Amino acid sequence: MSTFTVLNPATEETVATVPSTSVEETDAAIARAVAAREAWRAAGPGDRAALLRAFADAVDAHTEELAGLEVAGSGHPVGQARWEAGNVANVLRYYSAAPERLFGKQIPVPGGVNVTFQEPVGIVGLIVPWNFPMPILGWGLGPALAAGNPVIAKPAERTPLTAIRIGELAREAGLPDGVFQVLPGKGSVVGQRLVDHEAVRKIVFTGSTEVGRQIMAGCARQVKRLTLELGGKSANIVFADADLEQAAATAPQAVFDNAGQDCCARSRILVQRSVFDRFMEMLEPAVKRVAVGDPARPDTEMGPLISAEHRARVASYVPAGAPVAFRGSAPDGPGYWFAPTVLAPVRPDDPAYTEEVFGPVVAVVPFEDEADAVKLANDTPYGLSGSIWTQNLGRALRVSRAVETGNLSVNSHSSVRYWTPFGGFKQSGLGRELGPDALDAFTETKNVFIATGE
Ligand code: NDP
Repeated sequence: MSTFTVLNPATEETVATVPSTSVEETDAAIARAVAAREAWRAAGPGDRAALLRAFADAVDAHTEELAGLEVAGSGHPVGQARWEAGNVANVLRYYSAAPERLFGKQIPVPGGVNVTFQEPVGIVGLIVPWNFPMPILGWGLGPALAAGNPVIAKPAERTPLTAIRIGELAREAGLPDGVFQVLPGKGSVVGQRLVDHEAVRKIVFTGSTEVGRQIMAGCARQVKRLTLELGGKSANIVFADADLEQAAATAPQAVFDNAGQDCCARSRILVQRSVFDRFMEMLEPAVKRVAVGDPARPDTEMGPLISAEHRARVASYVPAGAPVAFRGSAPDGPGYWFAPTVLAPVRPDDPAYTEEVFGPVVAVVPFEDEADAVKLANDTPYGLSGSIWTQNLGRALRVSRAVETGNLSVNSHSSVRYWTPFGGFKQSGLGRELGPDALDAFTETKNVFIATGE
């Protein structure tokens, strides 16, 4: 049996050795999901809801264990890892209300009436990246299960530990066999098989835009339903009339959270020229205050990058002679550390300004006026997230409408909440997750005409 090794990114020590699922084992899991499908679809809405709540309770009861696995296997700061485990439980609980609210419509038509039913789409393949192993698993899992679909999750090869444990908790909570399975292994083996197998009716993929394109092409062969959550290069837009102190104090969190390995990272800070120097003066101490170090310590704010290869990739965006304005700190010694880095002034064609770095590197760029800010913000193939800082309500709304991106925050650095829709514009994705309408992505609308005669 082939295996792979999970390393602790903060120490480079081995945390676990995990079996790598083969194509044959993936097919066997799909067969178990097929066997479970009818009973799960037909389960009473109240029963499905109760099982989801029991599952949420089991996750809650194991918060510390799950957080410990994420600290060791992914290098996430423990406070963040606890929040992530809580997010899974909250999302399951939020969608546990959905089975009892899967309403259809009745539509009067000549000669009768039409009724619609929201039918589960079928087996869902959930392909998860390494940056947020728990929340991203939960965002697909909650609505997919609630809608009556069996789910097969493929965690990222580097970070499978929490998903494996959450799969065990689902069974302990009473989810029937085959309803939720976790298959650790390679994307090119397990992920590809989920895309290619005809019994899998929907793929939920979160990851790079490049792999997303391949998956979209694979799904096209069978006209398979697909949700894509891909890369980002989001702008944090600071107008001269903003609360500059607040904007500068939170800008490090907006980009350096999870060591910048965040699709929503505001990795371009656009600042109105008249306040540019003042903003930079305030940003510098905020960046230097970021507590980078041992993820197991409760006061740590930023941990290491995921791997040596990824650190080399991030470092390539800050070559010798790069325009580094200032940097935060990072530990020496073992671990894939990279200090928070602020670049200014950057050339418009600098890859650190145009490409997704997926590390703690931010470029700060001046703009002249509102039109210029919108033009710069939109000058990217991505459109996932962003922030707007201004005291002018009209401008906040105008710019929010003009920026081509899926999730924005005004006078705040964060825009992801499980009870609101999440997803990207342009090359950042396809379809929406989270929020009250997420069930639409996991159901098909069936339309039935009933003739009433005379
Ligand atoms: P990848 O695209 O490399 O991998 C994502 C997942 O897909 C992994 O589980 C991977 O498996 C699997 N995979 C790889 N190749 C295939 C294939 N041919 N068929 C099926 N599955 C495959 O992305 P990263 O893990 O590097 O994640 C980082 C990227 O994810 C960033 O670009 C980031 O912006 C994006 N992202 C987007 C989010 C959003 O919501 N929009 C949220 C979080 C991240 P394996 O581990 O074996 O490689």
